[in-house]
Amino acid sequence: MAKTAFITGIAGQDGSYLAELLLEKGYTVYGLTMSCGEDCSRIEQIKDRVELIKGDLTDRESLNAAVKTAEPDEVYNLAASASVAASFSKPLLVGDVVGLGAVRLIEAVKNHAPDAKLMQASSSEIFGDTKISPQNELTPLQPKSPYGVAKAYAHLMLKHYRNAESMFTSSCILYNHESPRRSPEYVTRKITVGVARISLGLQDKIALGNLDGRRDWGYAPEYVDAMWRTLQQKEPDDFVIATGVTHTVREFLEEACRVAGLRDPMSIVTLNQSNLRPADPTTLVGDASKAKEAFGWESKVSFTQLVKIMVEHDLKSGNEC
Ligand code: NAP
Repeated sequence: MAKTAFITGIAGQDGSYLAELLLEKGYTVYGLTMSCGEDCSRIEQIKDRVELIKGDLTDRESLNAAVKTAEPDEVYNLAASASVAASFSKPLLVGDVVGLGAVRLIEAVKNHAPDAKLMQASSSEIFGDTKISPQNELTPLQPKSPYGVAKAYAHLMLKHYRNAESMFTSSCILYNHESPRRSPEYVTRKITVGVARISLGLQDKIALGNLDGRRDWGYAPEYVDAMWRTLQQKEPDDFVIATGVTHTVREFLEEACRVAGLRDPMSIVTLNQSNLRPADPTTLVGDASKAKEAFGWESKVSFTQLVKIMVEHDLKSGNEC
């Protein structure tokens, strides 16, 4: 029988890719959205094939009502105030949405769809300040930002419901993953949009922070596939989802310029202190060997392919990117 999925954050980068994947697999898809109306661009193509429900992770009753309506077999919690940098100025909001919001959702599932399996989008930021490299599912949590602390709380509560309440609650500990659907305030998309606009003569410079910051960057559609596979396992568990390879922001910029045919990357950059994170994490790089062993997942889209996909998309979008 066809399964039903309920996705929070369906209008975000990952939510939109996951909804498309599940529709392809024949699922009935319900999605929670907070602010998305008729003009929600990432789900424009599929909005007639999914059931959108207005709701907010800070509003317990909206989550209860949404779960009752959807009667899901699988729940994917992707909604978040997802910016690490912004979390320093909004610690209460981030704690409420990312930390307590996850628990409100688990409670709604426990009370209204107790047989459903739930996947929590956890984050490499739970390891923030670790000296262990690469990190895996057993690496001690050492978050370094309000966002990381809130994700760590949600991560531990998820394990609590798995162990103490016998719920099927799994997590993907996601490292950075990007795509043409990434919001332009994130450094990768800021670079690809900026490079595209500069090569089209629409802009002169891109303001960036620490060019030597390193990230483990993967391709978002592959990461939502891992989320789905996580819920097809017999037992709930945690899985690191990462490429295992890091690159610097400078390398991302240089590769983007190469794709767009811009010769001198540093000539288009202004360095801006306000773009530095208050606590830039030490290098986070994930070991995804557990996911590979359990369900054959590994990242296949390389760093250069990822940058090419994003720059070519933004060049094509031209004025609109
Ligand atoms: P995203 O594009 O920013 O999407 C997040 C969505 O969350 C938004 O579309 C927004 O929905 C929704 N949202 C925000 N506050 C909400 C609230 N109070 N109630 C209900 N919905 C709310 O994020 P993403 O990149 O797809 O990331 C998906 C998940 O993976 C997040 O939990 C993120 O923390 C986690 N993660 C992402 C990465 C990454 O590199 N992308 C890495 C590690 C972990 P509306 O549009 O409807 O307002």
